[in-house]
Amino acid sequence: MAEDTFDLIVLGGGPGGYVAAIRAAQLGLKTACVEKEDALGGTCVRVGCIPSKALLDSTELFDQIRHKSELHGITVGEPAMDVGRMLARKDAVVKSNTDGVAFLFKKNKIEWVRGFGRLTSPETIEVAAEGGARTLRAKTIILAPGSVPIELPFLKFDHERIIDSTGALALPEIPGHLVVVGGGVIGLELGSVWRRLGAKVTVLEMAPTIFPGMDAEIVRQSDRIFRKQGFDIRTGTRVTGAERKGDKVSVSIDGQEPIEADYVLVAVGRRAYTEGMGFEEAGVRLNRGVIEVDERFHTGVGNVYAIGDAIGGRMLAHKAEEEGVAAVEFSVGKHGHVNYDAVANVVYTWPEIASVGMTEEEAKAAGREYRVGKFPFQANGRARAMAETDGMVKVIADAKTDRLLGLHILGPRASDMIAEAALAMEFHSSAEDIAMTVHAHPTLPEAVKEAALASLGRAIHI
Ligand code: FAD
Ligand code: NAD
Repeated sequence: MAEDTFDLIVLGGGPGGYVAAIRAAQLGLKTACVEKEDALGGTCVRVGCIPSKALLDSTELFDQIRHKSELHGITVGEPAMDVGRMLARKDAVVKSNTDGVAFLFKKNKIEWVRGFGRLTSPETIEVAAEGGARTLRAKTIILAPGSVPIELPFLKFDHERIIDSTGALALPEIPGHLVVVGGGVIGLELGSVWRRLGAKVTVLEMAPTIFPGMDAEIVRQSDRIFRKQGFDIRTGTRVTGAERKGDKVSVSIDGQEPIEADYVLVAVGRRAYTEGMGFEEAGVRLNRGVIEVDERFHTGVGNVYAIGDAIGGRMLAHKAEEEGVAAVEFSVGKHGHVNYDAVANVVYTWPEIASVGMTEEEAKAAGREYRVGKFPFQANGRARAMAETDGMVKVIADAKTDRLLGLHILGPRASDMIAEAALAMEFHSSAEDIAMTVHAHPTLPEAVKEAALASLGRAIHI
């Protein structure tokens, strides 16, 4: 069996793995990345962030044309969506991104070793590839195998009518009725895609609210808006099973009548994907499948590090990327750094929801004395000009030091606005720092400034 030697090998070509590989190459290391799929980019680029945002952007435009043109004085006929073309555009967007990663690998002289990799020792990975097995050896190995959807034992995927997020990104038709099990990020994002095209969407959430763990006030407001948009949201609801009846699925619910659906999207979270890769045999510790690492992302075995969805914490592409960079830097004796307090969370519904730092409930539970400042988009000139006045900005600041503890946005383009708050968290800014910063007028981020002013009791426009 051929044996190839590298300085560093990354297992997994998702946002954690491919970014780690690029950083390693930048540092002059001979680098390989093992990826089993036929394209680089991982869950995020192939079947996650990128295709879901492509569909959200297409359907947002459709929704705007359908419901907002009239308001702006534009007369259009009833628009029609060609689902096939929408999906083809999404596939093209994905391809341009996966090709982009392949280009970056070439540019940085990173070898993509295609095939399923197993850790056979702290310094070797065996890759089962089409052309025969290959053993790769390196002083440093970074594990970045990512995650997969959780399957409920009483609601198993048939990948036809009972589907995961990957299935919901490629439905061949607009469902009459889409039942979504799980009122989390995927449920509301992909639920929005198909609702905007005319599907009836019922969300069945086990917890007392959608988005458990998010700031409760933001959750309440967004829940109200989603219901107004037509979502049938049923919280505190326990699904007990589903029965396939031809092209329909009957979903049974504890204490309620069964619901008949055309498709059932099960989106109840993701789990680390770590089985069958020789990790435990090589001495890497797993805790319920999650790779255990120390604060340097080291697994405790040789020079083996791990990052991304497979090590737990929030399952976000940008978190995985930062961990990838930090792990590589630690591995060469540099100082890596990931500030988890400044990792933003975004839900790409419309309006969007974005947050960074503590929720009000977390600040309370931590016994912090805090001040809250809020500013509604209703009072923001640009939001009025756009006719996008739903939502608000909420600032949470330490009552004594004024340090920013958290910032939450429900509103148009919250995803773009949250960068300012992440920077403020990174710089340990006070609410006053944001309030004193000149914001261009008229812009949506003025609502962020005004919320910061409100936390100091001196908002101008409310
Ligand atoms: P992954 O992206 O899962 O990559 C792991 C890679 O390793 C995969 O390509 C896999 O094939 C490969 N691999 C695994 N084992 C082996 C092996 N043994 N041999 C070879 N290759 C292997 N996050 C955001 O921040 N923003 C979003 O908008 C967003 N939207 C999402 C939408 C959806 C529908 C989904 C499902 C997820 C979304 N996420 C989003 C989450 C994001 O995709 C993940 O957090 C991110 O991809 C994690 O990166 P990773 O590198 O750790 O793992
Ligand atoms: P999630 O954790 O966001 O939501 C899952 C929801 O399902 C929760 O509200 C949970 O209470 C509920 N649930 C769990 N078991 C249930 C059951 N038996 N019946 C009914 N409800 C149940 O998970 P997700 O939406 O599947 O997304 C997975 C991960 O992917 C997320 O954690 C997120 O990190 C990532 N993701 C991120 C983005 C983004 O950043 N915009 C988008 C999509 C996915």
